[in-house]
Amino acid sequence: MPSTIRSLVRPHLLTLKPYSSARSEFSGTADVFLDANENAFGSPTKAVFNRYPDPLQKLVKARLAAIKSVSAEQIFLGNGSDEAIDLLIRAFCEPSHDSLLITPPTYGMYEVSADIHNVAVQRVPLLLETSYTIDVERVLAAVTPRTKLIFLCSPGNPTGNVLSATSIHQILQGFGGIVVVDEAYIDFAPHKSFLPHLATYPRLAVMQTLSKAWGLAALRLGMLFAAPELIQVLNSIKPPYNINAVTQELALQALEQAAWKDDVVATTITERERVASALAEMPIVERVYPSDANFLLVKFTASQNPRAVYAALVEQGIIVRDRSQVPLCEGCLRITIGTGEENTRLLKTLQAIAQA
Ligand SMILES: *Cc1c(COP(=O)(O)O)cnc(C)c1O
Repeated sequence: MPSTIRSLVRPHLLTLKPYSSARSEFSGTADVFLDANENAFGSPTKAVFNRYPDPLQKLVKARLAAIKSVSAEQIFLGNGSDEAIDLLIRAFCEPSHDSLLITPPTYGMYEVSADIHNVAVQRVPLLLETSYTIDVERVLAAVTPRTKLIFLCSPGNPTGNVLSATSIHQILQGFGGIVVVDEAYIDFAPHKSFLPHLATYPRLAVMQTLSKAWGLAALRLGMLFAAPELIQVLNSIKPPYNINAVTQELALQALEQAAWKDDVVATTITERERVASALAEMPIVERVYPSDANFLLVKFTASQNPRAVYAALVEQGIIVRDRSQVPLCEGCLRITIGTGEENTRLLKTLQAIAQA
């Protein structure tokens, strides 16, 4: 079983000479910067953006390291988690040769990114009869020497539930490639993050994001935590200035407001439970799946076409996500938890639809 990052990286990347930017070649103090062909006169905007941003986002990483109890060398920051997904595939999967494994129904970007790179996707579906648990035996049996990455989404999107920690440990122990645990929704879950296990598993990568609990989807800041050796590989192939200065600056400000995040998460969880109970009471609803995230996966009864419910909600100005065409999500809509007022309006509108 291959065990080092070096043995898994696409061979041509081991000798790659990464682009060296002006900002990474000089890191001392100076007051005249004539090295990067920037505009020395400033910017036409009120705030000034004429200098290139820190390519390795040292200040943001230092703050995150303290918050997450990891070292800065264990952090990669991407232009959204989507950039981290793309770079993992670029780093480890040889196009039209290697593959990655997903457990559908799951986040769509793993497969889209694989398709873009012409990397084969192996699918081992979650088990519907146990409300979307993972079939560890089938996952490990499906692995071939060409399987380089396994993407596990926990809590899952669109399924909402956390995967069992035991199952994730079994996959980490039984698979010789990179195991990615996507924790975009972990703040909403009562369960612990897999971050403390980074020391145990050199081939574990944990992804988180500022897009959900931190309320910063528009800033595009995704985090990937892994062994320094893996982080260095991603750094060597990333676009030099992948995180812009505004994002770095505002992320630093936001990270001082953990209490705001905790408050919003608590309110979201209370609202999630209220909406889940109200939905479960409705005759048009067959099932509300358990959720550890900021959304609910809701299955409508066979007599109630979910697409008609979707369309009727749109008519009232309420947009939810139609997942009814996704295998193993037949009959389901995915409903994000909004503010109390928004949720009440959703529930009232659904009640009216049920009575029509
Ligand atoms: C929303 C989401 C993300 C976050 O993506 P960003 O690019 O960081 O906004 C990542 N993974 C999953 C499963 C998600 O649902």
